[in-house]
Amino acid sequence: MNQPGWVNDWCDRGFIFDISERLAEGIAKIHAQCTPPCPRVTTAREYLAARQSAKDAWNASPNG
Ligand SMILES: [Zn+2]
Repeated sequence: MNQPGWVNDWCDRGFIFDISERLAEGIAKIHAQCTPPCPRVTTAREYLAARQSAKDAWNASPNG
């Protein structure tokens, strides 16, 4: 069962099938109001953070 502060959009599904940056951004927007942050938005945010740090590492690379 979802918590009352969640948007009720698969909030308890921490696994996001076929995740992409675009999908994760959409989920992060939809679930931005989830309180406390639901497993789904947590997954989306972690994915986006990982993508961002990968980009940062790539940009910082002298071989980039
Ligand atoms: Zn949610």
